[in-house]
Amino acid sequence: MASHTVALVPGDGIGPETSAAMQRVVEASGADIVWDVAEAGAHLVEEHGTPLPASTIEAVKRNKVAIKGPVATPVGTGFRSVNVALRRELGLYACLRPVLSIPGAGGRYDGVDIVIVRENSEDLYAGIEFEEGSEGARKLIALCEEEGAGAIRPDSGISVKPISKAASERIVRFAFDYARRHGRRKVTAVHKANIMKHTDGLFLRAAREVVMDPALFDVVVFPNLYGDIASDLAAGLVGGLGIAPGANIGDEYAVFEAVHGSAPDIAGQDKANPTAQILSAAMMLAHLGEAEAAERIRRAVRAVYAEGAHLTADIRKATGSSKPAASCTEFTDALIAAF
Ligand code: ATP
Repeated sequence: MASHTVALVPGDGIGPETSAAMQRVVEASGADIVWDVAEAGAHLVEEHGTPLPASTIEAVKRNKVAIKGPVATPVGTGFRSVNVALRRELGLYACLRPVLSIPGAGGRYDGVDIVIVRENSEDLYAGIEFEEGSEGARKLIALCEEEGAGAIRPDSGISVKPISKAASERIVRFAFDYARRHGRRKVTAVHKANIMKHTDGLFLRAAREVVMDPALFDVVVFPNLYGDIASDLAAGLVGGLGIAPGANIGDEYAVFEAVHGSAPDIAGQDKANPTAQILSAAMMLAHLGEAEAAERIRRAVRAVYAEGAHLTADIRKATGSSKPAASCTEFTDALIAAF
C-alpha cells in the first residue's frame, strides 16, 4: 500500500481528542498515513498573533491533502473565521457533506443518503459588510435610492450577497461530476429565486434540474448560506452533529473535517463523539485512492453502532437510551476491535 503524507490540524476544543481517535482508527484500517501536524486555533493568538499561522497554510499546501479538527472563531478579537480564511486561502470552493443514516445512531429517519454540495466562496459569507452609520453604508443607501433599487433605513448595517455566474457554474459542475463519479441519479439545486432574482435566480439558471420531491434527493447543491443551514439540519436527520463528516475541496487542495464545531462545553472530558472526524478520514482515504481502507472504517463504524454497547453520550441522548455512555476512548477502542 502506498504511503501518503497528509497535514493534520487538530484544532481546538474537542479537536485534539477527536483527532487522536481518528489517527488510531486510520492506523487500524491498514492505510499507511504519515501525519504532518500543524496548529490552528484560538490558543495560538497570544503567541502568534493569529489563530491561523502562515506555517499551517504552508503545511496544507505542501501536502495537498489535510484533515482538521474544529477550530473556534475567537469572538470579539477582530479575527475572521479560521475555516473561512483557510477555504479562501486554498481555493476550496466546494464543501461536500454526505448525510448517511447509520442504523443505531438515533436518526429520525432510516435510509437517508443525501450528499450536500455547498458553494464555499461567495454569498453572504463573502464578508463584504458595511457598518451602520459608516461612509460606505451611507453611499450604498444613496446608490440604492438613486438606482430605484429600494429604500434602506439610514441606521442599517449592510451585508452584501454576491453570487456570480462563474462560481455558480463551477459548483453545479462539481455537483454533477460528483454525481456521475458516484453513480448518483439526480442533482437538486436549492434556491429562493422568486425573491432574490439576481442572485439565487442566477444560481438557478446555472443549475440544470430542480426536483421538488424530497424522496428524489440524491446530490443537493446549495449557495453558501443555505448550504450551511441545511447541512446542520440534515445532520439532525441521521443522529446529530457527532456523526456528520465533510470535506472542502478545490482544484489543488482538499481539507477534510467534521461538520460540527469545537464543542467547548465538553472539551477535554473524553466525552466527544469522534465518528464525524473518523468518517471524514474515510472520505480522505477514498480521495487518496485508498478505497478499501475507507470501506473498512465505514464497516467498523456501522458494526459498532449496530451493536450499540459502546456509544457516546450524544448518541445515547439522541436514541433516548439509558445505557451508560462510552467515552471517546472507549468508543474508539470498540471501533478498533471491530476491524
Ligand atoms: P461552531 O459555531 O464552531 O460551528 P456550533 O455552535 O455549531 O459551533 P458545536 O461546537 O458544533 O456548536 O456544538 C453544538 C452542540 O453539539 C454542543 O452542545 C456540543 O457539545 C455538541 N457536539 C458537537 N460536536 C460533538 C461531538 N463530536 N460529540 C459530542 N457532542 C458534540
